[in-house]
Amino acid sequence: MRAEMLSIGTELLLGQIVDTNASYIAQRLAEAGIPLYFKDTVGDNPARLAQTLRLALSRADLLICTGGMGPTEDDITSAGVAEAFGVPLELREEAKATLEAFFLARGRPMTPNQFKQAMYPVGATLIPNPTGTAQGFILERDGKTAIVLPGPPNEVYPMWRETVAEYLRTRSGMTIVSRTLRFCGIGEGALEEELKAIIHAQDNPTVAPYAKLAEVHIRVTARAADEAEAWRLIDPVVARIRERAGQYLYGVDEETLEEVVGRLLRARGLTLAVAESCTGGLLGGRLTNIPGSSDYFLGGIISYSNAVKEAVLGVPAATLAAHGAVSAETAGAMAEGARRVTGADIGVSVTGVAGPGGGTAEKPVGLAYLGLAVADRPTQAVRLTFWGDRPTIRARCVQEALVRLRTLLLEPTHE
Ligand code: AMP
Ligand code: MG
Repeated sequence: MRAEMLSIGTELLLGQIVDTNASYIAQRLAEAGIPLYFKDTVGDNPARLAQTLRLALSRADLLICTGGMGPTEDDITSAGVAEAFGVPLELREEAKATLEAFFLARGRPMTPNQFKQAMYPVGATLIPNPTGTAQGFILERDGKTAIVLPGPPNEVYPMWRETVAEYLRTRSGMTIVSRTLRFCGIGEGALEEELKAIIHAQDNPTVAPYAKLAEVHIRVTARAADEAEAWRLIDPVVARIRERAGQYLYGVDEETLEEVVGRLLRARGLTLAVAESCTGGLLGGRLTNIPGSSDYFLGGIISYSNAVKEAVLGVPAATLAAHGAVSAETAGAMAEGARRVTGADIGVSVTGVAGPGGGTAEKPVGLAYLGLAVADRPTQAVRLTFWGDRPTIRARCVQEALVRLRTLLLEPTHE
């Protein structure tokens, strides 16, 4: 099965919107093991659509189209695909009824042009659209298949998950299963080096690294006749990866770092507070992404100015004067202050130069200190240097704070 995908919409050619559907669909096809040979973009123009469809059908047997399924004059996809497949359009009563119900439920009048969205090529199988008005369709004829979807991504994704994925699975007789292993505290290059032998030895499952912000994901994806068989292929490879790099593995699949940190805090019955300067509350935000985080997260102080560092956190004026706001001494005092103010077991602080301005030769943009204050042990402060723009530097500070917290919580002394 050779696939070709077609994004339809003049706004794509004008660069007004980014073709995120193309990337989504290409990824899904890759996961399904269906080779995609070409991606085309064409405007809302019948002649050029017809030309593109002709070309695509001459070299692919599976055609995936997105866009141009709405009710307006420039929505020409259904008509174009019908013509390319040599079949007429017909009114589908069930689609008309769905449309009427959609408008009735929202108390909106249904304009006559909406009925256009109930016109489909003869012989098409409709693809339900749980979040919009235009249903998609699958059309099979003379060994060629078209899968036609509307444009809005929030409609494409559920339609794909709920209908198209299953259709392609049945067609290919294969099921795709993947496991994502999430690593922190190691760079992509170093992790890939560590796992090189495993990555290169595999093609089912495939083992692919994805660099994220200050973490790396390894996705292990298997194709098999059924799910159980796919897991039989995946499990031993995951076990080998754990053997090689298990100490950096913090989570699996959708598990996030803040979730893991929260679970460790809960397991040890410890509470946490933060003092944030350059991250302005982002660390507290990440930690409180997790429902139930109030069990262990007591609160945070956004001590952006020196005055707040002094007055609220009790950072000595002399420390600020001698070492500056971005220093190991200030970071340590901030972390201790967070503990003192909240009564938490662990205080974490972040102070740094997020840029783009404000850097000096001694304290360049990207320099940050993390403070860690824990009962009955000396306060630590670590110096870090990051790169990137302001949002990236801030996000890296937060990520690094979570990584360090995880490391601290895994230390045997905290059992
Ligand atoms: P359409 O049904 O083609 O008129 O598309 C309706 C809306 O969906 C557009 O205004 C875009 O916001 C969005 N859209 C259409 N095609 C794409 C695409 N290929 N990728 C991402 N968004 C799209
Ligand atoms: Mg359009």
